[in-house]
Amino acid sequence: MITVKHLTKQFINPDGSVFKVLKDVNCEIGRGEVISIIGPSGTGKSTFLRALNLLDPPTSGEILFNGENIMAKGYPLNKLRQKMGMVFQSFNLFEHLSILDNVTLAPMKLLGYTRQHAEEEAMAMLRKVGMAEKSGAMPADLSGGQKQRVAIARSLAMHPDAILFDEPTSALDPTMVGEVLSVMRQLATEGMTMLIVTHEMKFARNVSTRIFFMNEGVIYEDGTPEQIFEHPVHSATKAFVQRIHKLVFEVDSPDYDMLDVKTQMGQFCIKYNVAAKHEAACRLTDLMTATVMAQQYPFTLRLTHSEQTEVTALDFMKEHTDISPLQTADSTTVEQLRTLCKEIVEEPTTRGFRVKFIL
Ligand code: ADP
Ligand code: MG
Repeated sequence: MITVKHLTKQFINPDGSVFKVLKDVNCEIGRGEVISIIGPSGTGKSTFLRALNLLDPPTSGEILFNGENIMAKGYPLNKLRQKMGMVFQSFNLFEHLSILDNVTLAPMKLLGYTRQHAEEEAMAMLRKVGMAEKSGAMPADLSGGQKQRVAIARSLAMHPDAILFDEPTSALDPTMVGEVLSVMRQLATEGMTMLIVTHEMKFARNVSTRIFFMNEGVIYEDGTPEQIFEHPVHSATKAFVQRIHKLVFEVDSPDYDMLDVKTQMGQFCIKYNVAAKHEAACRLTDLMTATVMAQQYPFTLRLTHSEQTEVTALDFMKEHTDISPLQTADSTTVEQLRTLCKEIVEEPTTRGFRVKFIL
């Protein structure tokens, strides 16, 4: 239904320099697919959705929608907006119109429906999202979750082929997220083609046919929910889905300020709720720098914590070697190291070798 080829979007900064937000986006979206777009903020997810329905026209590339090039001169924007609905984080309802009028406005104006026809359909759509009872209310009378359900009904009233959602639950009180997600889940089961930018990982995982992981202006990795969440190929994808936090030090000499390292590790452990692991991290750091790593400068010391797997690890990484630094250690030291952690993993990396202590 949608084919995107080499899509780019750039903005000109106030100082005249060029800021490339979308660098080279390529994808194919089939009818009935439900695609969740995940990724760190500022990587162009919203820009991508806004480029797709030409709210923010792309700089270059090609978008085919139902086989037609929508970037061609003269392609009717009204038709595009009708066929490709959009639901925003901030609802964007018309505050001065009743709920019913919010839903009937576009079908009467753009589809030429009579008021009666538009109202009948609007009521059916409002019923679908559980908001029929509020048809006479004003937006200000509704909760955020209710407003977002009305926004979805308004989009459905145009009989779109696809709906783009930009973080539809991000502005909601946590108690209201569920009601919006369940409406979306319902649409998904009915076969609506949906593109959803979301931070709701569980929802993305359960509802999507495919996941796009966007990073640095490209679709960095694309796959089934199982592939992306269980077996991501790229380390950036893995870090994102497992919500891995890192603290990294390039230790270049014995004079490196290890007290500062330990202080920062303490703050890191408190921040991610693993304060109990701070002592082991410090003792491992002391022992490793005094023994195994003493002849290995420079090396990289890294503390990581995954909120998803709840694994905290302390890594010692040495470049340009394929031998574990632990090979040179005497057995008493290795025994001592073992008592300070759950597990020691020795593994080659693309750039060298890593000794990982699981805390
Ligand atoms: P995401 O939705 O992934 O968080 P966005 O698509 O909103 O990211 O933004 C990506 C980058 O593009 C950000 O750095 C943002 O500041 C920039 N950006 C977005 N819209 C504009 C604009 N109209 N003018 C200039 N920069 C913009
Ligand atoms: Mg965004």
